[in-house]
Amino acid sequence: MAAARKLKSSAPASAAGRLDRMLGAHLAVGPGLVKAADRAASVGAMGLQIFTGNPTGWARRAELPKELPEFRARMKEHGFGPLAVHAAYLANLAGPRPEIREKSIALLQYELRVAPEYGASFVNVHIGSHLGTGVEAGVKRVAEAVDQILDGVPKASSDALLVLENSAGGGNGIGESLEELIAIHEAMAKQRVDMSRVGYCLDSAHLWGAGIEMSDIDQLDRVVSEFDRRIGLEKLVMIHYNDSKAAHGSKLDRHQHIGGGEVGARGLAALISHPKLAHAAYYLETPGMEEGWDRLNVDRTIQLAQGNLKLKPLPAESPGVPKPAKRVVKVAKVAKVAKVAGKKPVKRASAASPRRAGTAKPQRGSRRQP
Ligand SMILES: [Zn+2]
Ligand SMILES: [Zn+2]
Repeated sequence: MAAARKLKSSAPASAAGRLDRMLGAHLAVGPGLVKAADRAASVGAMGLQIFTGNPTGWARRAELPKELPEFRARMKEHGFGPLAVHAAYLANLAGPRPEIREKSIALLQYELRVAPEYGASFVNVHIGSHLGTGVEAGVKRVAEAVDQILDGVPKASSDALLVLENSAGGGNGIGESLEELIAIHEAMAKQRVDMSRVGYCLDSAHLWGAGIEMSDIDQLDRVVSEFDRRIGLEKLVMIHYNDSKAAHGSKLDRHQHIGGGEVGARGLAALISHPKLAHAAYYLETPGMEEGWDRLNVDRTIQLAQGNLKLKPLPAESPGVPKPAKRVVKVAKVAKVAKVAGKKPVKRASAASPRRAGTAKPQRGSRRQP
């Protein structure tokens, strides 16, 4: 596999060749797109999810980044799997307010239009909230909005899929249960949406918030087979692979490091090794990627996929920012010196990683996560 050859051999564990499926990571592109791609490779990931702009703002750049050709080339060099663009959180396809709806439609049309420039296969969006107007009305609005979005972007100009993500259910978020996803799917079919341009994403932290217990194999199997029967597993193109700080069934969406949260090693191991989900692209959306948690979460995912559920306790402090892959051997020493000198890892103000579903307001001070 090309990915295995291209990934730096100095990386302690690479997902390529050690997983039977694609594992990517959502990384900040503030430092640059090419840098993000290289970082993903250096921590052993096989793909990327990114924001094209501020995840908590509507504005999108007037001019595309100059490094896009180089970025696309680098993604290929690394042998990466599909690139996903995560749309801004403000988008709400299910809500009743016309102004937000128009902005959401325009935003998603933008993301779909620029997706080919980035080389992105998926434009992922939280479905949104019906804001108290009821699931039925919300479902109808979603179907109409998706239709309008796709109508405004000819298929010939964008081959990226619009990927609808399940919700944890808080804040009247739509798509909490499989039934709601099926209702949306059927409403879109009725609306004559071009279904070849639509896909789905299941986020494990959201499944957990919505009350799915993934460590119960029968329960996970039921979700998978019901999805297959009513929607088709080929439509499940993305999985957001996160643990959760929130309680089971709490409808809350609080991402946590793999095996460090309430979903736990058993549930996450079942998800990463489910034989019917190997076709999907998995993306970590765990916190603090830029502080070295990205590598740790890739390593922990590989360990779970290999059937070893005895994960080490999470380190009390951030694992540190790895230097470029070429000098990985020296990283441990450098990190130690930096720690002794009392240097803190650089915090980035730019979009880090994606967060919660629906329209819940971003928590002050919390790290951004998809
Ligand atoms: Zn997600
Ligand atoms: Zn989430």
